[in-house]
Amino acid sequence: MSFTVTATDGEARAGILRTAHGDVPTPAFMPVGTKATVKTLDPDELRALGGRIVLGNTYHLHFRPGDEVIAELGGLHRFMGWDGPILTDSGGFQVFSLRDTILAVDDEGVTFRSVYDGASAAFTPEIAARIQANLGSDVAMCLDVCPPAASTPEEHERAVRLTTAWAARQLAAPRAPGQLLFGIAQGGTDPELRRRSIEELGALGFDGHALGGLAVGESREEMFDAVASATPLLAADRPRYFMGIGDPEGILGVIERGIDMFDCVLPTRTARTGSALTWEGRLNLRNARFARDPRPLDEDCACPACRRFSRAYVRHLVNQEEILGLRLLTLHNLRFVLELTAGARAAIEQGRLASYVAEALARLGDAARTETP
Ligand SMILES: [Zn+2]
Repeated sequence: MSFTVTATDGEARAGILRTAHGDVPTPAFMPVGTKATVKTLDPDELRALGGRIVLGNTYHLHFRPGDEVIAELGGLHRFMGWDGPILTDSGGFQVFSLRDTILAVDDEGVTFRSVYDGASAAFTPEIAARIQANLGSDVAMCLDVCPPAASTPEEHERAVRLTTAWAARQLAAPRAPGQLLFGIAQGGTDPELRRRSIEELGALGFDGHALGGLAVGESREEMFDAVASATPLLAADRPRYFMGIGDPEGILGVIERGIDMFDCVLPTRTARTGSALTWEGRLNLRNARFARDPRPLDEDCACPACRRFSRAYVRHLVNQEEILGLRLLTLHNLRFVLELTAGARAAIEQGRLASYVAEALARLGDAARTETP
């Protein structure tokens, strides 16, 4: 078995995911390395921050530089110089979020125009399997249909039907040695459709399960309700992955509801817009109030940015568009969410997750109330 639950606290779990490139303590935040790099960082820095598993992007790597090129060069681990675990998405989310580029969705798969050169391309379950086998990731994801939250019930039903049919085909396709395969449940926020999707995938027998099609436009409350009703239906002995959450409140919320893994571009993307995630809330370093601020980004943070540099210095770098500014904010933001997640894991082991979450939300809530625009 590739996953062991080591402690529970309410619905929340602490565990270990075992992969061909090492173990991942869960709950785990997965930094996103879309194009075979977590933007601005090198792999040693990522590891020093506490990153244990990185996400790579099938869509982008398939087109640039090409998954066959990466295979020829020894696979994605060697290509990007990261010898730890890698999870690759299936490319489905990118295709379905670039809706204007979709040409057709049918039983076979999805055809679309590449964002790189506009050429027609197709993803089928077999192609998604082959690309991820070429990349050699430790965890591969099934190709799914991911409709926007505002879709009609008929569209959500069709997404569930195709997602199950595609998952069965991908399960039968060849994989890289030791590669785990996770199925993705759809169904939007409709409890019955979600249940059906989870049951159909559960019957197929995947190494882990993801909740897809959430955090795509529905309210936070609807999203949390959908997670709370879905996790008890997911196999307790397999990892549960929530696709696409990375803000502090969201991370704590899905952990409390029984999620083991999650990813998001938010910490790294926020950094590149010049903002820091802190216990005082989100700080926009472009703001003039930091011009003479000698304090670190966050008083409680031990990241390389906070150990050496002041807010005034980071602000100067950001305003002058110096590359170091984006790097320092990326280091800090990733450290912040990785520490928050590690703290939740420790709290689960000690049976005090509820108070950990309450304290964290109170601090972050105070910050939100006192934050100056
Ligand atoms: Zn820091």
